[in-house]
Amino acid sequence: MTVGTEYTYVVDFDGTITTGDLSSELAAYYGGPVYEETESKYRRREIPIREWLRQMAKMLPPDLDLLRLKSLEWAEIRTGFYDFLEHARKKNSTVIVASDGFGFYIEPVLEKHGLLEKIDCIYRNKTMIGEDGKITVQNPYAHVVCPVCGNCKAAHVMAVKETGKPVIYVGDGSNDRFGAAWSDQICARDRLADVCEEYGLTYSPWTDFYDIIKIEKPDLKDCSDRSLCLPKGRGIKNGV
Ligand SMILES: [Mg+2]
Repeated sequence: MTVGTEYTYVVDFDGTITTGDLSSELAAYYGGPVYEETESKYRRREIPIREWLRQMAKMLPPDLDLLRLKSLEWAEIRTGFYDFLEHARKKNSTVIVASDGFGFYIEPVLEKHGLLEKIDCIYRNKTMIGEDGKITVQNPYAHVVCPVCGNCKAAHVMAVKETGKPVIYVGDGSNDRFGAAWSDQICARDRLADVCEEYGLTYSPWTDFYDIIKIEKPDLKDCSDRSLCLPKGRGIKNGV
């Protein structure tokens, strides 16, 4: 963590930094009806995102170069992201990217757009070719026992807050709710906004990164009551 950092942004990648969700787009492109079925189960919360990743990975061709090329072709950076990174630098704030998608395309996409060196840290899953010759996803940042997330964004948020710095969470997906609920300020769009409504989490709606630039430094808050999981405990709370 940078010495003297005022606050930290924890930013989702797919559907947040990029306008589309590259993991979903790849799974839909190669998975067809199996994608639809798995996606429906995920949306009904019958399977967690970690299982979504495992099932969707099976549909991808075992050619990471091809998948990277497709991702680079499809990726579009959301309006204002470059200026947001400049703003964060001026504010002496840290930008952490936390992704629970396939993730292998994140650095190439950021590099292509001249953004990679402006990001302080990236936490993501590892997608690779397994010993069986098929695509497999490893989750180096998963909780020890919680089965829900591949990448425990709540743990990343808590780790920052333990340094005394408040966190602004920026995301779009329903699974962002776990990291968002622990954050001092939530910026939510799309399905994250819907689940914030569902769980009564206060949030700022956003459209592009110029909306994020307008957000002031929040106070450090104790979010344990409203949190949806316990990264230092057993993980997801009962009934969530
Ligand atoms: Mg997302």
